[in-house]
Amino acid sequence: MPSKNHFSTLYLSAPDVIALVQRKGVEACLRGMADYLHADYLRWNAFDKSARVASHSRDGVIELMPIADDQTYAFKYVNGHPKNTRWGLSTVMAFGVLADVATGAPLLLSELTLTTALRTAAMSAVAARALARPGARTMGLIGNGAQSEFQALAFHHLLGIDTLRLFDTDPAATAKLQANLQGTGLRTVVCTSTAEAVRGADIVTTVTADKTNATILTPDMLAPGMHINAVGGDCPGKTELHADVLRQAQVFVEYAPQTRIEGDIQQLPADFAVTELWEVLAGQRAGRASDAAVTVFDSVGFALEDFSALRFLRDAATELGMGQPMELIPELSDPKDLFGVLRTRSPLLRAAA
Ligand code: NAD
Repeated sequence: MPSKNHFSTLYLSAPDVIALVQRKGVEACLRGMADYLHADYLRWNAFDKSARVASHSRDGVIELMPIADDQTYAFKYVNGHPKNTRWGLSTVMAFGVLADVATGAPLLLSELTLTTALRTAAMSAVAARALARPGARTMGLIGNGAQSEFQALAFHHLLGIDTLRLFDTDPAATAKLQANLQGTGLRTVVCTSTAEAVRGADIVTTVTADKTNATILTPDMLAPGMHINAVGGDCPGKTELHADVLRQAQVFVEYAPQTRIEGDIQQLPADFAVTELWEVLAGQRAGRASDAAVTVFDSVGFALEDFSALRFLRDAATELGMGQPMELIPELSDPKDLFGVLRTRSPLLRAAA
């Protein structure tokens, strides 16, 4: 429990997290996050869970994602604005906090934009390890924007994917992805349509951004045994899969009450049968029913994953001695005398004078 005398919040800026990932390496971060995610998913019932709170506007959404166990509370602030790249801003931007449940003291304030890409990719790999057919080697990757390299590398390192079939409506995004993957050992094949990219793929990842009910994957593109990692449909009115793809598949979700609002299954009745992934990871329910079954991970991003990612960052930063202590909360000699901080002239004003 933090005490008055040595309490400060650890601050991990975007440059800090970039340096942390460079020091540890992308593969080690993906593997580390996957381990933390898996471990936290196995503690599913220890968490106080809720669907995230979303504020929708014409072109996007801003969301708050809280979760806690009996020791640690976490939240993430995240947006989703598919048109942002036109103005030179990322589609997804995020930061988050870890706090001490016993006192409410904020322990960590961190960037989560880069971290979200890593944790989403690690989560996709955790799900695919449980659901895809063993021996999958080829992945179709539809949507080659900010998340795509992380997805590609997570599937390469954690599942052994060696060939990617790429498609994006923006050829420049595909060229960027291909260039960024050079030297990773992944073979890339650039395709001119989703149908071509999906052909012969064991796994298909859809990670497009468009605030519309898109039909990136249609039933004619399905092949027996395929695993679909559907990442981009994560908001009311923003989906990627034709409803019949879902009807023909076994569908796995993070937290059903949130996914029914935000995931591709929003297109289907509220009683459409889905399995929460934690049940499969914990061995309480079966995953894929047969080699021929089509499985879908209808990913929307759940607060537990940011809890795990923040834990991973805190532990990695502590191990590497990275980040800065920050005085986010005023230091008081008498905690009942908050007004007292205003009676002594701030050192910042003295420095500016
Ligand atoms: P981005 O804007 O950087 O990239 C999206 C790419 O999709 C762009 O290159 C765009 O040209 C392409 N695209 C759009 N429509 C397409 C179509 N019909 N066919 C093929 N390509 C198409 O966005 P990003 O940061 O990579 O995020 C991608 C998506 O993933 C977003 O929708 C985001 O909300 C979602 N996301 C989900 C999670 C999760 O946990 N499930 C986490 C992070 C992001």
